Formats: sequence, C-alpha cells, structure tokens
Amino acid sequence: MYRSSDKMEEYCGVLGIYSKKTANLSDYLYDGLQSLQHRGQEGAGACWTDGSSFMSKHKLGLSTNLFSSDFNPYGNIAIGHLRYSTSNDLKAASLGPMLSTERNFALAHNGHLRVNNSNEVDTLEAVKFLEKGQAEDMISIFESFRYKLEGSYAFVLMTKEKLIGMRDPKGIRPLLLGYIKNKYDEELWILSSESCAIKTMGGNVIRMVEPGEIIEIDSSGIHSYKQFNHQCNEELCAFEYIYFSRADSQIYDTCVHEFRYKSGILLSKKYNFSDADIVIGAPDSGIPAAMGYSKESNIPYVEGFVKNHYMGRSFIEPESNLRKKRVQLKLNVLEYNVSGKNVVLIDDSLVRGNTAKHMIESLKKCGAKKVYFLLASPPITSHCYLGIDTKSHEELIAHKKSIEEIKISLGVDFIGFIETDELDTIASSSKLCKKCFNLKYKRIL
Ligand code: 5GP
Ligand code: MG
Repeated sequence: MYRSSDKMEEYCGVLGIYSKKTANLSDYLYDGLQSLQHRGQEGAGACWTDGSSFMSKHKLGLSTNLFSSDFNPYGNIAIGHLRYSTSNDLKAASLGPMLSTERNFALAHNGHLRVNNSNEVDTLEAVKFLEKGQAEDMISIFESFRYKLEGSYAFVLMTKEKLIGMRDPKGIRPLLLGYIKNKYDEELWILSSESCAIKTMGGNVIRMVEPGEIIEIDSSGIHSYKQFNHQCNEELCAFEYIYFSRADSQIYDTCVHEFRYKSGILLSKKYNFSDADIVIGAPDSGIPAAMGYSKESNIPYVEGFVKNHYMGRSFIEPESNLRKKRVQLKLNVLEYNVSGKNVVLIDDSLVRGNTAKHMIESLKKCGAKKVYFLLASPPITSHCYLGIDTKSHEELIAHKKSIEEIKISLGVDFIGFIETDELDTIASSSKLCKKCFNLKYKRIL
C-alpha cells in the first residue's frame, strides 16, 4: 500500500520518535506535530509500530484532526508528517507518511526530488526507488539513494526496528536530532524539522543532522553515516530563517527570531527616515524585524495590524483573486495606531506582492500619511524549484518589475531591501542558499 503525494513538498514538517520502551506515543506526536504545524496545514499523518506491524492514520487539515478516541499510537517507533500543498483537491489518501508493505518501511519527506536526471519525482517515486534497492538493509539502500538523488530532502524513515533520518548533501532542508528523558525515566530519541518541536516535547536538541548525513537509531543506540565521496557544501534555504521556520526555532547557532530581529537592525542602519512616526511589522514573520528596526532607530514600534489567526494560508490559494480575498480577511489595520502617521512598514519578503498591496492600500485608507516599505530579504527575482512556493518566474513581482516600478505599483513613498551578502552576516555560521535572489538563476534541477 502507498500513500502518495501528487505535488512537491518543498516545505512540510517531518517528525520521528524512537522510544526505548514501548509506550503510548500519542502525547509526543501531538506536541511535536502541533509545534510544526506552521510547516503544513493541509494534512497530517502518522505511522507507528510496536515491532510486529505498522499502523497509520492520515487526516486532511490540522494535525489535531488525528487525535480522536480511536487514535492509539502504542509502540516504540513513530513518524509524522505535515503536508504543505498547493493542490486544491488534496485527498487524505495522498498524505504522508507513505507506507511500503513490500519492504516494511514508512517514509516522511520534506523536499523536492529528482532521481538519476529523470523528471521531478514525488515522495511516492522515492518510496518505489527505495523498494527497488538491492541491499538487505535500509542504510545501504539509503546510502546508494543519496548518490542518485538530486534536489532537497529531509527524510524520516522507519522500519519495524529502526528510525532513520537523512538530509540531502546540501542540507537545503533542516533536520535535527533531539533527546527526551521524561519523568518516568523513559528515554526517547527525536528527529524533527525544527527545534521548537523537540523543546515543546520536553526534550533537548543534540544537534543538526549534517548535510548528507544518515542517522540510524535502534536498540543499540545512535549511528551516523557520513561517508560521502564528494564534499558536502551546505546551502540551507535562506527562507528557513526569513519566513518558514517558527521564530523560537534554532538553526545551528542562530535563533530564527534573532535572525529576523537583526535583519531589522540592519535595515535601520541602511534606511533612515527622519519624519517617520512609527514602525509596524507584517504579522507574523515581519514583526521581529520591525522590533529590531525600532530598537536601532528609536522610532516607536506599534501594532499596525490585527491578524485573524483562524485563517489558513493566503499564499497558497490557487486563484489569484482568492489569494487577495484571503489576505484581506487575514490582516486588518489598527486605524487607531496608524491614522495621521508616517509609517515604516516591514515585511519579511515580497513574493507576488499581494500582501504588500493589501497592507499598503489599507494603511492609506486608514489615514497613514506616508508609507516607507522595507523588506527583511532581497528581491526574489527567480523561481526556486526547491523553496518558495510559486509556479513560475512570471508570478514574482521583482522578476517582472524594477525596484522603482515596484515602488510605483505598490504606491509607497520608499521601498528598500536587504542585500544578498548581508543575509550571510546575520546568519553567522549557517551557509545559505540564496539562488532565488539571483536573476540569472533559472533552474537548479
Ligand atoms: P506575496 O503576498 O508578496 O505573494 O507574499 C509575501 C508574503 O507571503 C509575506 O508576508 C511572507 O510572510 C509570505 N511568504 C513568503 N514566502 C512564502 C512561502 O513560501 N509560502 C507561504 N505560505 N508564504 C510565504
Ligand atoms: Mg507574511
């Protein structure tokens, strides 16, 4: 039996749990998947084993939909998956993790793949590829897999005896290893897309899985397989810091909130507006940058918008007018704070420009005199096949228009961005992939 995905899974969240004792893993799955919910809200799934058979449950919508009275994940290994999809007709049968009964494993995947120069493949193809592996053990198959695969992937795989994690050789998507010792003295190992889940589950982060590394966890402990016949030069997707990861997650030595806050400080050093009265941030990911800007410039930070937290994602609506409508429902101006003011507005990124257009128009409608618009990332000029979720270059406002044209079309008094090189200074030791900011970049796969 397969559970397949019909679309690529650039973002998505993956989680793996290995418990030394057989236990009810429900609480761990609940806390872990809930904490990774921002990585995918379209569907959730979990597979688990008690060593004799595989069990699974998949549900459309939020991860909480999994947790009904018939959900009883009793075992010692479990994996979970959160689906981020651009597909409108998503079915529960196409959610991850995917099971292979032929070879007795289940796979959860975050990334975007191609095998042996073929066309792009989805997670189902990856499962078929793994099934064809000649070797007896899963690690040998995974090792051969990483030579043949191109693209971005963070995998969490389980057999009846092992939990295995793997990150692509460029480390485009994150994967972390953690450890929990609970009050009953039970010990668990965790693999997770983000540190916020490990912390919420009551654990500690041990480290990032390295680019190209395979981690194997079984009754004999943890084993790492790093041998790789070419150098792994890390290229972590810059958008993990800019937009995608939760603010309390830590990537290597930098907390995501800290990265965003520092990008606001940097913007303040670059762009100074002597007549600005207030700084506001676009909820949620623009807010730390607005706070950083305010701290450095001494211009007061105030809330400019109220966000409706019960809305899904405006970004992934397939129809452009639906996307605009959702942005409108999602963000409403706090007129009381902005009326009559010159406003510095900060968002994390400018993709199609829908969010910006709505925010700026509504700020003006509510009496803002001037709007200085700053972005805590460079202009996105190229469609990324491994990251930002757009279908083509043509959708990107900065691909089609010059900075001056964007300024005019958005109706702002100023527009300013962070430069590509500046991102590296904020991310300290992380080495980032920034190809989507490079106009010459056409295709990575
Ligand atoms: P725009 O409205 O310009 O198309 O998108 C920009 C907004 O979408 C920003 O406020 C940013 O926080 C958010 N965003 C940036 N990248 C992504 C992405 O890959 N997926 C989703 N869902 N939102 C994104
Ligand atoms: Mg946003």
